[in-house]
Amino acid sequence: MRAAACLLAVLVLAAAGSAVAQKKHSIDRMLPGSLNPEPLPPLQNPDAPSTPAKELFARKSTPFPGPPRSIGGYFDGCLAGAVALPITGSAWQVMRPSRNRNWGNPQLVRFIERLAKNAKEVGWNGLLVGDMSQPRGGPMLSDHTSHQLGLDVDIWFTPMPNHVQSREEREFGAATDVVAPDLLDVDREVWTQTHTALTRTAAKDPVVIRILVNAAIKKALCREAGAERAWLSKVRPWYGHAEHFHVQIACPENSAECKPPSPPPPGDGCGHELDFWFKESTLHPPPSKPKPALTLADLPPACRQIVKAP
Ligand SMILES: [Zn+2]
Repeated sequence: MRAAACLLAVLVLAAAGSAVAQKKHSIDRMLPGSLNPEPLPPLQNPDAPSTPAKELFARKSTPFPGPPRSIGGYFDGCLAGAVALPITGSAWQVMRPSRNRNWGNPQLVRFIERLAKNAKEVGWNGLLVGDMSQPRGGPMLSDHTSHQLGLDVDIWFTPMPNHVQSREEREFGAATDVVAPDLLDVDREVWTQTHTALTRTAAKDPVVIRILVNAAIKKALCREAGAERAWLSKVRPWYGHAEHFHVQIACPENSAECKPPSPPPPGDGCGHELDFWFKESTLHPPPSKPKPALTLADLPPACRQIVKAP
């Protein structure tokens, strides 16, 4: 009886372990891209007021011409005058180019160019760049609620290889998960001082207002930061974000229609401020109900003109 109970306990633990592994790997993973992305089918009723705005923005493959304008908020806005980040740069390569999300406000493109150079100086070989924004910004069909203004970029925690990657490598190459399986700390097999240096370099760029990372990564940064800690206040814990960090830059000075988010609270955000993130209910949250999709009525009026233009 005792042995049976013990075996049962082992089985339950094993099941719990695999559930942990599944949960960990289902949040915010970098999904493979495609070599032959299919164009989206035309919408039956594009002008219906209930049409999700993401369906409209996802069907625009070119930017809205004219001067750069980041319009609205990070979670409800759009972008005009976007420029594309070249998919191969001096020290960066765009991943998953089939998603056509390598667009941004020119300020974001300049930031990425600058970070690639500065990161190289602290020993990071080059940036693998994930999603920025769609050609006209706005809500996306998959993965993000922000990235709408051309002011957000995901940077992989995987260093760039020394060669120019093929299309296959960019679409299907796996990102490195730097968080340990128990989600309580970074994975010491993959996390290095250079990851800390890269994150610090990004946070210290004056245009950066916020960087989102997994709480286990924030904990490691708190431990490794040393005496100079002001940059840590920009690095905030969030769900997922174990394979990339998300950088948000400030509203550009000439973007009068851009709504700046509230700044992060002062202080390094370490110690007990991280307790919430390591509670069981936060590490393994129950599934949340999807929010209703934004429609054009939820976005600034200028976004309607931007997405409706040919
Ligand atoms: Zn992101």
